[in-house]
Amino acid sequence: MPATLDVSTTLQQLVRLPSVNPMGKQVQGDIYYEHRVTDYLESQFREWDLPFERQAVFPQRENIIALLPGAVDPKQGGKLLMLEVHQDTVPVEGMTIDPFAAELKDGRIYGRGSCDIKGGMAVYLTVFSRLMQLPVNQRPSILLACSINEEHGFDGATQMAQSFSDQSSTIMPRKPDAVIVAEPTMLDVVVAHKGVIRWVCQTHGKAAHSSDPSQGCNAIYTMAECVHHLKDYAENVLPTHAAYPQLGKPTLSVGTISGGISVNTVPDQCEIEIDYRMNPGGDPLADRKAVIDFLASKLPDATKVSHGPPTIISPGLSAEKNQDLATQLIKTANAQGHTSKAIGVPYGTDAPAFDLVDVPTVVFGPGSINQAHTKDEWVAVEQLEAAVEVVYEFCVGFGE
Ligand SMILES: [Zn+2]
Repeated sequence: MPATLDVSTTLQQLVRLPSVNPMGKQVQGDIYYEHRVTDYLESQFREWDLPFERQAVFPQRENIIALLPGAVDPKQGGKLLMLEVHQDTVPVEGMTIDPFAAELKDGRIYGRGSCDIKGGMAVYLTVFSRLMQLPVNQRPSILLACSINEEHGFDGATQMAQSFSDQSSTIMPRKPDAVIVAEPTMLDVVVAHKGVIRWVCQTHGKAAHSSDPSQGCNAIYTMAECVHHLKDYAENVLPTHAAYPQLGKPTLSVGTISGGISVNTVPDQCEIEIDYRMNPGGDPLADRKAVIDFLASKLPDATKVSHGPPTIISPGLSAEKNQDLATQLIKTANAQGHTSKAIGVPYGTDAPAFDLVDVPTVVFGPGSINQAHTKDEWVAVEQLEAAVEVVYEFCVGFGE
């Protein structure tokens, strides 16, 4: 029987394998993409002699899913739980610590991904190593599913969910009965979160020498008007929309702006990126159209403005199908002395991919979202160890 893993050591090993998401940019270097983590997971699953499947999504970017067989085969009616976690991290620019040293100091493990969400991955691996000590008839079947590209588009989770619902997955030709998506929630249970839609908006003008601006049409001036109206929409229109219980109201933010080629040229082009966070259950494309129509109605000449297709669409997690799952998980955590509760959060996760194919899904994990993506990212060892106990107990009781 293989030895149980130590959660801190496992996390340190994972942090030392860079899996930086390029976030849609052209990049070079040996810290990018998830393949080092995928290979690490594969060698662990091989060591455990567990069946696993790699799903190619993009070059050097593959989902990996392992199956821990339980008492009753899920294909013959046995229950099936899935533990899901993403393999990618955000970039490391601006960090004030060595992103990949995985230093353990004062009860914390530092490094990129330590909190979001290699800590959660280490918890899942540790739980798996403990479940393997149990006789097969004392545990349910459990998938450990590790996705790619959570931080910039959710493609891994989307493909994974699809492979279960269209039965193309070789490891499990059916949907799980429940999914726990790992994210840093401080052991609270996220039952709802907002969705997001992002797109590029461009203004078009006419270039001219800046010595005679009247010969041109300044695309930055047009964009300034657009930004003004978008701010108005965010501050005065969205607050009139309906609020969702755990989430409040939708939000809009203009996140980047660029335009012009030189100070002595009247710019003929300017672009911004728009980030719109909507409540679950709605239609992201309809929300986007409402923004575009509002903008067009406010501008004297809307033909100077164009909108690119959505660069990201995620519909959000609704609290409709996951009540029982959330209640059970909260009960398990609180029986161990925690004060877990059902919450909503404003950020996106892999969870909607599974919610969309009607699998009850919640988000749960060690560490605080406040430490994710930071310049000195860390997670408390105490959180990791507590999460191991909660997830292990939940797994053992699942399907009873
Ligand atoms: Zn994350």
